[in-house]
Amino acid sequence: MELANCPECGKVYLENSYKMCPDCYHQEEEDAEKVVEYLRDKNKATIDEIHKATGVKHKIILHLLRRGRIVGEILYPCESCGELISSGRICYECSKSLMDQLDVWKQKEEKSKKDGISHQEYSRMYGNLNNPKKEIEKKF
Ligand SMILES: [Zn+2]
Ligand SMILES: [Zn+2]
Repeated sequence: MELANCPECGKVYLENSYKMCPDCYHQEEEDAEKVVEYLRDKNKATIDEIHKATGVKHKIILHLLRRGRIVGEILYPCESCGELISSGRICYECSKSLMDQLDVWKQKEEKSKKDGISHQEYSRMYGNLNNPKKEIEKKF
């Protein structure tokens, strides 16, 4: 058993699968019930609406959502730009620009190990030679 600090209240507790102290876990369970109750006759709500109706903290609603404790189309802000989204952690635009950044990063990496031919270039030049046997078999 490991001791850990509760991320919610800072108290020391015995580490468990909930990753928070029993007090906070019970609090979260109560909050979850409120949110589930609120969402029962709605299929779409923003985190803000849920917060205003139930008094449950934004952070806890997000936490419940990530744990799959509450379901439904819940809109919450993109962690990068604040745009409302209903899945993942960032919006489509932000994930696209992240992918672009990744591409740039990859290209830089390719350039830095320029002493060999990259995989893509190789198959573009010698792609047909990968299966010389098949080509020959076709001919006979
Ligand atoms: Zn706690
Ligand atoms: Zn975004």
